[in-house]
Amino acid sequence: MEELPSYKDTKGSMSKAALWLIEVVGEGNTFTKARLAEAFPNVAQIDRRVRELRKYGWRIETNREDPSLGSHEQRFVSRGDAVWEPGKRRRSSDGINAAQRRDTLVRDGNRCRSCGATPGQTYEGTYEIAQLDMARRVVRLPNGSDEVQLVTECNRCRVGGRDLVTDLPHLRDRIERLSPIERDVLRKWIQAGERDFGLVEKVWAEYQTLTPDSRDEIRDGLTEGD
Ligand SMILES: [Zn+2]
Repeated sequence: MEELPSYKDTKGSMSKAALWLIEVVGEGNTFTKARLAEAFPNVAQIDRRVRELRKYGWRIETNREDPSLGSHEQRFVSRGDAVWEPGKRRRSSDGINAAQRRDTLVRDGNRCRSCGATPGQTYEGTYEIAQLDMARRVVRLPNGSDEVQLVTECNRCRVGGRDLVTDLPHLRDRIERLSPIERDVLRKWIQAGERDFGLVEKVWAEYQTLTPDSRDEIRDGLTEGD
């Protein structure tokens, strides 16, 4: 269980409002402007401070987003950055807020979009542990315009892929040039939503761990055109 400072002992009206939402209202519940004003009788424009929380990834809905809410009602849907902590107050350095991070992770099934790694998993054949993070991917659309998309990437795939622009027509071209067998493998990965390490790759990974002598033995046993 997370230790939070009490909203009463916290400085700064936005931080107070954030903690009040968590501690008094609770995620998923609704509150009224009157109740908010009552909790903070000495703070001018407390509802404005609550609105500001949205910049930090907090989800607070009004009847504009959710028509089932009354005109004075709001719903505290989910929390974002811990604005009461000095370091977290600013939007994260990459400008991706907690809500975007969460949405992207959910959409990507909590896996690296490039290699399918899950957090904490060790990369095959190594002791390196996968960690997931967000990356901005510039995607060139068929109409020639660029769009920035957030994707989940692991530490290993992220290295080197940072300034990559994915050109969709070019990618399609390269797919066209694959052999029918390769295209079929690709189609299966796309359908499964992850790259499945085929038998050949597993054998290759195991082969690489062998001593030179054993590698020679395997190599000698492989005749071309088998
Ligand atoms: Zn990866």
